[in-house]
Formats: sequence, C-alpha cells, structure tokens
Amino acid sequence: MPELPEVETIRSQLEKLIVGKKIKLVEVSLAKMVKLSLAQFKKTVVGSKIKSVKRRAKILIFELSNGWTMLIHLKMSGRLIFRVEGETLKDEDIKWNHLIYYFEDGSRLFHNDLRQFGYVKLIETDKLLDFFKKEKLGPEPLKKDFTLYNFLAILKTRPKVRIKQFLLDQKNISGIGNIYADEILFFAGVHPLRRVNKLKSKEIKKVFNGIKKILPEALRLRGSSDNMYLDALGEKGEYVSRLKVYGREGEKCKKCTGIVQRIKIGGRSAHFCPACQRP
Ligand SMILES: [Zn+2]
Repeated sequence: MPELPEVETIRSQLEKLIVGKKIKLVEVSLAKMVKLSLAQFKKTVVGSKIKSVKRRAKILIFELSNGWTMLIHLKMSGRLIFRVEGETLKDEDIKWNHLIYYFEDGSRLFHNDLRQFGYVKLIETDKLLDFFKKEKLGPEPLKKDFTLYNFLAILKTRPKVRIKQFLLDQKNISGIGNIYADEILFFAGVHPLRRVNKLKSKEIKKVFNGIKKILPEALRLRGSSDNMYLDALGEKGEYVSRLKVYGREGEKCKKCTGIVQRIKIGGRSAHFCPACQRP
C-alpha cells in the first residue's frame, strides 16, 4: 500500500504537473471506483480547473475551481500516472486503468488500480474540514508540530497496544503503513510485539527519531516500489534498496549476523531482526 512517502511523492509531482489545468473530459471504465453517481461526478469535474493538490494522511486532495474537491485514496495498489500529449501507459498498466482525466492541453492523468480498493470522492470544499475532523486522523509525522511531546501524549492513550499496531493505526499517527512501521522499529531496535506501556523512555525516543528520519529519507527517494507502487511519472521509487527488514524474511540482518523474521500481528505481517529487536 502506498504510505506517506509514496503518496507525498505523487502529490508533489502532480502539483507541478496539473495545477492550473482544465479537465476537458473524464473517462470511467470501472464505476465502483467513484463513490457517487457517474453523471454527477462527470458533471462536477468536467470543465473545472485543478486549483491545488494537497494531502492528508494517505488521501490526495484535489481542489477544483468550482467549489468542489476531489479526494483520491490509492488504498492497496492504486496509481496515478501523468502523461503528456501523445504519451501513453505501458500495456500492463492500461489493463488496470479505470479512470482517465483528459486535460485541455492534451495531457492525461491515468488512475489505475489492480486490486480496486481505491476510491474517488467529491466533497464541497468548504466541508473538507468537517470531513477530516470526522475521520479522526492522527497528526502528520513530517510536520514540525509533531514533537516527541505529542508522540508521548498519544502513546499514553493506547497503553496496551503493541507498538507495531500502534504505528499502523491512522488515528494515532497519519501515513505510516506496514513498510515504514517495520523500518522504524528496526531503526529503534524495538520488537514489534512490545506493548506501548512497557517501552522505556529511551526506546520511545528512538521510535520517534526513527519516524523523523526514515519517512523523509524514503520521500527523498520517491518511496518504495516493493510491488505495485509507481510515482506520478510511472517510475519506481528507489527506497527498496535501503529497506533493512521489510520484505527481507530469511535474509541476513544488515546490522548483525541475525536472520530477518516475519510474524503475524493482527492479520498484518511484521518483519524484524530477533537479535537487534529483543522481545
Ligand atoms: Zn540484527
């Protein structure tokens, strides 16, 4: 699933590529991706300009010029790929393409999604704040106002939860998913099954430092293409080669002679080094 570094990569690329462009036409070949009537969707979107491209957690926010905002969640395997006039997608990407936005200058934005869990929603722009209030999302970890002090306060509200599950819960912190939760805990030397109230303050600090170090590093390399993810130019993110534990089950730890293990926690997997991250 695209996490904060991947979604933010797409956002910053699209900001440069599509802001100010007018949508001339929208083609929808899989209606269930759009969470309103297709007629209503097309009527609202066609003819409007993209005013801004923002992000909250893993949700992309496209503000339109007509008082409406389009929300896109890529969920498990969604992609948004931009192509200038005359350029198209690779064959395998066309196969899973469900929406195409045609801009007035001939460029296009393709929304494809192999597993089809993603969505497009429309919301009136002045109701956005209310919408996100109801979603009860935790703070944005890359923002300066996400401090160790805030982190401690949030940890105190979930004392019994295992730290891996704590990091994945979007109500605690926004944007962290399976890949970066595993990498953050490896960085911190904290076992994923440890419970929040059993962590020493030194360990909590290390987890916090891991969040502040790993997410920006992954963002600089345009995220991790472990399987489906491509950026808005259709390129792979380059952080995979830096991954220390995620997706490395059975391989040698990059820090010691241990072997990376994978376990299940509440339906999700966790990768860790049993020597570097003691239970
Ligand atoms: Zn190790």
